[in-house]
Order: sequence, then structure tokens, then C-alpha cells
Amino acid sequence: MKSEKEFFKEAVLWEPAEDAKVRCKLCNHRCLIDEGKLGRCCVRKNIGGVLYALTYDKVCSANPDPIEKKPLFHFQPGTQSFSIATMGCNFRCEFCQNWQISQAAIEDGRIEGQAISPEQIVDAAVRSGCKSIAYTYTEPTVFMELCNDCGRLGKERGLANVFVSNGYETIEAIDFAVEWLDGINVDLKAFNEDYYRRLCKARLGPVLDTIRYIAKETKIWMEITTLLVPGENDSEDELKQLAEFIVEDAGADVPWHISRFYPQYKYLDSAATPISSLERAYEIGKEAGLHYIYFGNVPGAKGESTFCYKCGRMLIERAGYRIAANDVENGRCPDCGVEIAGFEL
Ligand code: SF4
Repeated sequence: MKSEKEFFKEAVLWEPAEDAKVRCKLCNHRCLIDEGKLGRCCVRKNIGGVLYALTYDKVCSANPDPIEKKPLFHFQPGTQSFSIATMGCNFRCEFCQNWQISQAAIEDGRIEGQAISPEQIVDAAVRSGCKSIAYTYTEPTVFMELCNDCGRLGKERGLANVFVSNGYETIEAIDFAVEWLDGINVDLKAFNEDYYRRLCKARLGPVLDTIRYIAKETKIWMEITTLLVPGENDSEDELKQLAEFIVEDAGADVPWHISRFYPQYKYLDSAATPISSLERAYEIGKEAGLHYIYFGNVPGAKGESTFCYKCGRMLIERAGYRIAANDVENGRCPDCGVEIAGFEL
């Protein structure tokens, strides 16, 4: 009979601790896990003093998506990204859009998915004409072993790799991924500690550290997303602080996606974000000096397209996730010549 260990993949980035415990170093919870127990994400387990990833061969989503859906607007625009996920998450956001797969392991121990090998994933990405693999829908940090194997293989086949992340990975985890990770969208969910602790069961500080580190110490292309939840993170003062943080600590060229909230999961008693709040956030971002600001979850809005921050010319026209026109020339505005930051624009 197979031992429990043989069903799972030995984890990366952990160390043994006293009394057969293990310390996971993938995310900033840095769980100290007793023998036989799970980490907070409920998909990493200490079996006999060794940490194992329980989801390596349980892929719950695998399909091509427009890269714009991640959202990444300055990264190979108009291309498809083969998007994969496994179940589990290190956050517990009460308004999670993908709670059926992100929170199942936490709520009732459910881990479901198909055994699809990294070779099969990369083959499927190439066959379907994708230019990248996206690790998305749930938090990729908690399935880092699969990301790493797909990322390395994908690079050999000419594919880029992108994360859609809550930004809670450790610096060690970023360093671990930096060889194959080309792009990332980081959720900066709010600029107040209470929001992170109460609604996500996490902390703000490590997310800010991740954003600073990626911007200053790596060449990974980064975009940032903030879901505006009415009454929780949308005060003028907080949005001003958040936008100024991006400009000063990440750079004015980092695109900021302001996303419209709709009631979801456990957070059902609030209305959707008023469009006027998104518009006010847009103005605040511009006043702070951000070059590129976009609206999310508002189909058909003007805030979907890319404009030159210097002369105002429309550069990439979007209709939903479709690119109607891309006039960027060799990474520059064709009218005023200013450089437009991004990855293979
Ligand atoms: S990845 Fe999971 S086990 Fe590791 S520190 Fe984060 S929550 Fe804990």
C-alpha cells in the first residue's frame, strides 16, 4: 500500500523545526506546522516532518484567456494566456469572486482537480496559440511547485509566465520565481490595516514590501489592482495614500486597475461600487502622478483604453477584453514619442 507521502509533492521553501514541526516560507503567514497538520492555506501538510503540497497534480482550471482579463494591460496586449489554478488560498477575503475554488479546502477540506502534468499544460498552452501561462483564479503562491515546473518548461518553449497574486509571497518566494516569472498583477486591496485583518485575515505591511521589492529589485513587469468596496477602502484620504504609495514606491509607470465591486460570497449587504467612486479614484490617481489608470468590471468604459500620459493620444483601444487598435510603435507614442512602459507592447 502506498504511504500518504507518495500521493503528494514535496514542497519548496520550508525548513524543519523542533519536534517534527516545519516552517513554511512561501508566504508571509510563515506557518509553523505540527506533524500531521495543515498550513493556513489548507493545501500544504506536514507529513512525518516534511512539508508536502497537496494540490500539485490537482488542476481545477486550465483554459486560454485574454491577458487583459488578468488584468495585465501593458503585457503582450491582445494575446492569449493559458490560465491555470489549483484549489486553495492563503487569504480569506469575504468578497472573493472565486471562492468556490479558493476557499473550499479551508471551508470543508475539499481539494479537487485533474492530474495534468507540467508537460501537458505547456503543450496545451503552445497548441492553443498562447504567448504565456497565467497562474491565476486562486493564489499562485500556494501552488508554487506546479508554477515552478510549468514556468521553467514554458520558458524553454518560448512562453512568458505571469502571476495574479495577493502580494503575500515572501521575498524568498519572489527570488525563487524570478528566473521564469515575467509579469505579475498584485492586488493592493486597501491602504488600511483593519481592512486586511478583518476582511482578508492577513496584514497590509507584507503586501507593501512585496510591491516595493518587485519594483526595485526585479525586472518583473507589475500592475496593481484595487477593488473598491463601498465604505471599506474608498475614502479620498485612503485612496490618495494608496496612489501616492504606488508612485513613490513602485513608480508612476505601474498601471493601476480600479475595479468595481459586486456583492459576492459572504459580503452581500453592500451595493455595487458607484461609477462616481471609480471616477473620483481615477482623478486621485492622476493627481498623485500615475501615468496609467484603468477601470475593471465596467464593460465599455473609457477607462479600458490606454492613453499617452504626455500628449493624451489614444494608444490601445479596448472593447472589453478585445483590442480594437494598438498604435504603440516600438514601445513609444507615435505622436509625441514618449516611451510607453510595458512588456512586448
Ligand atoms: S503558503 Fe500556506 S502553509 Fe505556507 S506560509 Fe502560506 S498559508 Fe502557511
